[in-house]
This record gives sequence, structure tokens and C-alpha cells, in this order.
Amino acid sequence: MYSGQCLCAKVRFHIEGNLEPIQVCHCSQCRRAQGGPFATNIPVDESCFTLVSGADSLTEFESSPGKRRVFCRTCGSPIYSRKDALPGVLRIRAVCSKAIFRPGRWRIFSTVLEPAGG
Ligand SMILES: [Zn+2]
Ligand SMILES: [Zn+2]
Repeated sequence: MYSGQCLCAKVRFHIEGNLEPIQVCHCSQCRRAQGGPFATNIPVDESCFTLVSGADSLTEFESSPGKRRVFCRTCGSPIYSRKDALPGVLRIRAVCSKAIFRPGRWRIFSTVLEPAGG
């Protein structure tokens, strides 16, 4: 089991089962939502996710039609996103315990075309 929390610790959660590799996404929405050059996401079946505390601290922003980014209203930590087109799947922001950050768990998604010869 993996556990995670937001920066202010109001939102706490557990994830059961094995995790897929971390997806590193640097699309413009993820960069802005994360405040950095990329976001780290892990798709998790909703049935494996347990919100331990902080349900009243969660708020969401629909960043594109049908896609909601859920974050802590107190500290702003991104918690997960979900898409109407993918019911039952949460894309957890990889803020969880250090156990998640093992070598080989990373998968880079690139939407940037490299210049020729560059
Ligand atoms: Zn918080
Ligand atoms: Zn993205």
C-alpha cells in the first residue's frame, strides 16, 4: 500500500495494489497546473484509491471539457485528475511516499517536436 498527502496534510490518501510506471507529461496544461517543467502522474483504478481525510478540502478545476484537476483548496497541492471519457481512472499526481520513486518507474511523454538536427 502507498500513502500520500498534500502539502498542508489535510488531504491524505492510500493506494492499494501495484502501481503502473510514473507518466511524465510536459503538455502546456500539466506545466501550468504543476508550476514546473512537467507533471508526474500515475493512473490508478478508482477502487484502489481511498481518501483518508480532507474530502472537504478537495476542490476541482475543469481544465478542458470533461477533464477535472483536483487539488487541495488550502495549500494548492495537485492530488489527481480525472476524465469523463475514462470513468473509474484517477491520474494521481505522484506526491506519494518515496517508495514510488524507484528507478525504472518513469515513462516520458513528449509532445514537443525536436528541431531537425537538434
Ligand atoms: Zn493541503
Ligand atoms: Zn499533460
